[in-house]
Amino acid sequence: MDSNRLQDELMLERNSRLEFEHKYKSVIDHNLDPIITINLSGRISYANIAVHKAFGYRLKELTGRAIIDLIGEEKNNEFNDFLSRAFSGESIEMEGIKFFHKRGKYLSAYVKTIPVAIRGDIKEIHLILRDTSFHLKNNERLLFLSYHDQLTGLWNRRALKEHFDADADYAFRCDEQLSLIQLDLDRFNTINDSIGRNGADEILKMIADRIKLVIPKAGKLYRNGGDEYIILLQNHSIEKTEKLTQKIMSDFTKPFYFNRQEYFISSSIGISVYPEDGTELEELLQKAEQAVRFVKERGRSHYRFYREEMNTAFTDTALMEAHLRRAIEFNELELHYQPQVNLKTGEIDSFEALLRWNNRKFGFVSPAEFIPLAEESGLIHSIGDWVLEVVCAQLKEWQDKQFRPVRIAVNISPKQFQIGAFAEKAKQIIEKHGIHPSSFEVEITESALMNMKDTLSTLQKLKEIGVTISVDDFGTGYSSLSYLKQYPIDIIKIDRSFIKDIELDEKNEAIAKTIINLAHNLGMQVIAEGVEKDLQAEILKEADCHKAQGYLFSKAVPASEIAERYFA
Ligand code: C2E
Ligand code: MG
Ligand code: MG
Repeated sequence: MDSNRLQDELMLERNSRLEFEHKYKSVIDHNLDPIITINLSGRISYANIAVHKAFGYRLKELTGRAIIDLIGEEKNNEFNDFLSRAFSGESIEMEGIKFFHKRGKYLSAYVKTIPVAIRGDIKEIHLILRDTSFHLKNNERLLFLSYHDQLTGLWNRRALKEHFDADADYAFRCDEQLSLIQLDLDRFNTINDSIGRNGADEILKMIADRIKLVIPKAGKLYRNGGDEYIILLQNHSIEKTEKLTQKIMSDFTKPFYFNRQEYFISSSIGISVYPEDGTELEELLQKAEQAVRFVKERGRSHYRFYREEMNTAFTDTALMEAHLRRAIEFNELELHYQPQVNLKTGEIDSFEALLRWNNRKFGFVSPAEFIPLAEESGLIHSIGDWVLEVVCAQLKEWQDKQFRPVRIAVNISPKQFQIGAFAEKAKQIIEKHGIHPSSFEVEITESALMNMKDTLSTLQKLKEIGVTISVDDFGTGYSSLSYLKQYPIDIIKIDRSFIKDIELDEKNEAIAKTIINLAHNLGMQVIAEGVEKDLQAEILKEADCHKAQGYLFSKAVPASEIAERYFA
């Protein structure tokens, strides 16, 4: 071969090598994925433009640096192994390494190696990187959603199951207890009815936030759907669990605000304990629920630990409801009347009508038990109407017999009050029977008054008709008293809980006296409920309480007995 030809060929080969290198370099330079090239000692020799975009470094900032310095420490060993395999010629991939961004944060990345071999010897390695933090965020989000309640962001039932399995396992090994607290909101459907689904959702969130504040480190809060929350506590003594429950209950005495209106919501709480009450989650849930129902049947707004007796004392509410449905038809309902005694004069010119239900299967059932059932099932409307009819008929009968004028107070459930046109209904019945409107009194509990919309207009209409209005169980439901100014209220009834022990408990005495003064100052009458002892009546009389009702004077008795005793 002559020298000219040789030179030409060398030239050609050099050109084609340059051309190839050029193409190869531009593929790397413009690749959308970040690519870093490292030499055999693990130091960076090259980085493309995408590296700058993804991780913030320019080529000159990286050249000569050890790749391992850019990797999150916890995977250092794994990454070194990975590199040595790559140096032995394998093209391999690794997920989930943390790559240090120039601005200080770690980004999750995926790496693929491409060994560069020249004549069989590995000279360098290209690392193709991909920022997977976005996917990771998505995955994390999916993971979050599957373990959390969407409305409140609390853990969900699925999370409870997994946490319980782990916690129970630990508790078993360490001979510890777990407490499972189930919290059910009382009458939350009335909130739903009055402010609608969206408003009720807002309140459910506020409740979650409020409970969250008191959950200890070793506890987790779950939403169990609807208006139920669950707290799982690790290694908590009965005393500590009870303290926490009391704290939650006292936090519930503060109102929740929605659209600048205050709402009072109480809760009933049942507690079961691992391993005493069961070792499986389902069993513990069922027992906590039984304790909740036990509380609800006994007037709500309280807490109980599960006890074996609850099983036997437990009534079949579905069956009871079926019986209640036919109570009017079977003549099982009766109204009894409890006299309200004027403490100064001893005179009696008013009574409270209290429902009695004597059922052939269940016997006498307390209104504290069947009224909530009637409210939940909607039966309260027909039962409530029946009560209004009977009371008006009773007043009419006494009026016709020319007995001295008296007044009867009727307990009105918030459900009845809420259905709209309650005032119109009362008017119609009063007119139908031809009784004096002022001889008819409606008793509405304080908390119910607050939780209803249109309360003011209904009360005003009742006032226009001439009906007497009283606030029942005063002092138990509310913290702000401004409604007393707004609403046309005639009578305040001091709740029994303040009268009980009034002779022993100075605080109760102070509360009762304050309520009495308040009523006087507002020009309202005041009636003390649940007076059982002479001394209690004496204290109340001295404090200028107008009237009292309670076992000291009489329990509620049938109408015939009232006529005999008070009108003879
Ligand atoms: P309430 O309106 O606060 O009625 C007073 C309750 O205290 C009555 O219980 C009465 O029997 C009881 N009581 C009266 N004096 C004493 C006493 O000296 N000591 C004690 N420990 N208790 C006394 P009852 O009849 O079991 O009624 C419970 C609740 O059921 C009532 O509380 C009321 O909220 C509701 N209720 C009763 N009748 C009706 C009704 O016709 N309609 C509606 N919606 N609710 C009713
Ligand atoms: Mg009452
Ligand atoms: Mg009461």
